[in-house]
Amino acid sequence: FDPIPHDAPVGQLHDGGFSPYVGSKLFAQLPLSDNTKRGLKDAKFFQLTDIQRASLPHSLCGRDILGAAKTGSGKTLAFIIPVLEKLYRERWLPEDGVGSIILSPTRDLAIQLFDVLKLVGKYHTFSAGLLVGGRKDVDSEKTCIHRLNILVCTPGRLLQHMDETPNFDCSQLQVLVFDEADRILDKKFKKNVNSIISQLPKNRQTLLFSATQTKSVKDLARLSLKEPVYLGVHEES
Ligand code: ADP
Ligand code: MG
Repeated sequence: FDPIPHDAPVGQLHDGGFSPYVGSKLFAQLPLSDNTKRGLKDAKFFQLTDIQRASLPHSLCGRDILGAAKTGSGKTLAFIIPVLEKLYRERWLPEDGVGSIILSPTRDLAIQLFDVLKLVGKYHTFSAGLLVGGRKDVDSEKTCIHRLNILVCTPGRLLQHMDETPNFDCSQLQVLVFDEADRILDKKFKKNVNSIISQLPKNRQTLLFSATQTKSVKDLARLSLKEPVYLGVHEES
């Protein structure tokens, strides 16, 4: 199947179907858990940015999202909030294991978004882990990875655990996120990403965000998105 129309123009908001929250301007207007609302308030996030306004009404309904918006537009919260809310609604517990995987192309970006996750998610009780190359030793990660609910990782390190860590189980995965998806879809990561996807359950929500319109429909098809809401948010020029 084609996840997005071949002729989908950049910058046009495609109909994501009904959501009662389309048009919300404030986080307070969204159906968020008190834990998330308090985390956002403490961090002084009140108004939604354009990409958050466009995507959250749909991602919070469980839809797959393909979002493009320039650097600095607030894409991180556009995926961290739905991840937290999905696991909260599922009453996810530390012993339930991996509920969400957030993939980032680089170690530094992964560290940055892990900080945002800790900030906004501080009132939640989920366990989260940062799994990137060149950090801590893999062996110590192997002993605790089965107790982590949200994994923030680079493709290489995630695959290493999939290959080497015996008790690593992703079969209950609820939400998969690709941050900087255009970079993760790069040739450099192709083999790793294909292998990762093949080991993840198909029945999940997938959120894909990038700074540019993601290149080819074929590339997206291999990520097995289901009727994604395609959102391009661009400045007026
Ligand atoms: P992107 O990933 O699109 O490049 P980020 O998620 O890194 O953007 O956010 C860019 C900056 O905007 C960060 O400093 C972040 O704290 C800030 N930001 C994000 N969302 C909001 C918001 N709703 N209100 C105020 N500031 C925000
Ligand atoms: Mg970003």
